[in-house]
Amino acid sequence: RAKEQGKNNYQIYHSSMNIQTYKIFLLEKDLRRALLRDEFELYYQPRLDANTGRIVGMEALIRWNHPEWGLVSPDEFIPLAEETGLIIYIGEWVIEAACRQNKAWQEQGLPSVSVSVNISAHQFMRKDFIHHMNRIIAETDINPHWLEIEITENILMDNDQSTILTMQNLQKMGISISLDDFGTGYSSLSYLKHFKVDTIKIDKSFIRDLRVDSESYFIIKSIIQLVKSLHILVAAEGVEQEEQLHILRRMNCDQVQGYLYSKPVPAAKMGELLKRGTLHYHSSLEEGERLF
Ligand code: C2E
Ligand code: MG
Ligand code: MG
Ligand code: MG
Repeated sequence: RAKEQGKNNYQIYHSSMNIQTYKIFLLEKDLRRALLRDEFELYYQPRLDANTGRIVGMEALIRWNHPEWGLVSPDEFIPLAEETGLIIYIGEWVIEAACRQNKAWQEQGLPSVSVSVNISAHQFMRKDFIHHMNRIIAETDINPHWLEIEITENILMDNDQSTILTMQNLQKMGISISLDDFGTGYSSLSYLKHFKVDTIKIDKSFIRDLRVDSESYFIIKSIIQLVKSLHILVAAEGVEQEEQLHILRRMNCDQVQGYLYSKPVPAAKMGELLKRGTLHYHSSLEEGERLF
């Protein structure tokens, strides 16, 4: 609210800080230091061929090892990082760490798969985004073919010419683009005509409610049909149950990601999974008791 009233009110607001505001204030201070203190870590979650369980990619997901609070999930700090502009620096750190790790795995002789990084709208819209990508690719010496970015529908919403250009430039460089959390944003399927994405990731909220003949069932079925007719790959995120996987297979969904196969794991564990190449899911495990 203080923001709406203009910059001059910040000080007044500061002197009458309530607990909630104070928490945010502390969090921002810590967040600024976290980069310098190297408190961020990337976890990785495999993305699998829906039919075979072969690992075809992985998503890098940031974690914050806070000295007092322990492991903090991105939902707790990414929004503030976006608000404060810190997302630019955190985002660069993420891309670089993911590229470096992927390159290291390749040099260890592990099978090459692409790594996906989540890019927030602020980061994507920056004029120097492509420039930074180029720099990181050069510095880490990664083949851009093994790099994918995940953006959300709201980036496409304002139908901006510069968005199309940035996407085209990334793809010319060899980087793939996937549309994350698909179905939750405001965009419509017609956007897919203007913006050429490589993969669409159906949001996990649809998968959660997926049962034969449920509302989600028909939504997912039509998304998959349409997306595939446009020759775009389709992935489902948040696949937790065997039944969901079987339905998705019958619908010809290309790829799946979710706790059924593996939770996001630290880099060392991901290296072991990569070595295995193909994963088997563990339907016999109790709820909450997964292998990883
Ligand atoms: P997302 O990109 O949609 O990532 C998928 C989220 O779903 C991850 O949560 C993942 O742990 C979780 N997930 C995966 N499989 C399952 C499942 O079977 N069931 C359930 N219930 N959840 C599952 P996480 O790691 O907490 O990340 C949350 C969000 O934070 C991400 O959603 C993404 O939007 C954002 N995020 C994560 N890392 C980064 C980053 O490096 N940069 C930016 N800008 N955002 C990030
Ligand atoms: Mg994502
Ligand atoms: Mg998602
Ligand atoms: Mg998300």
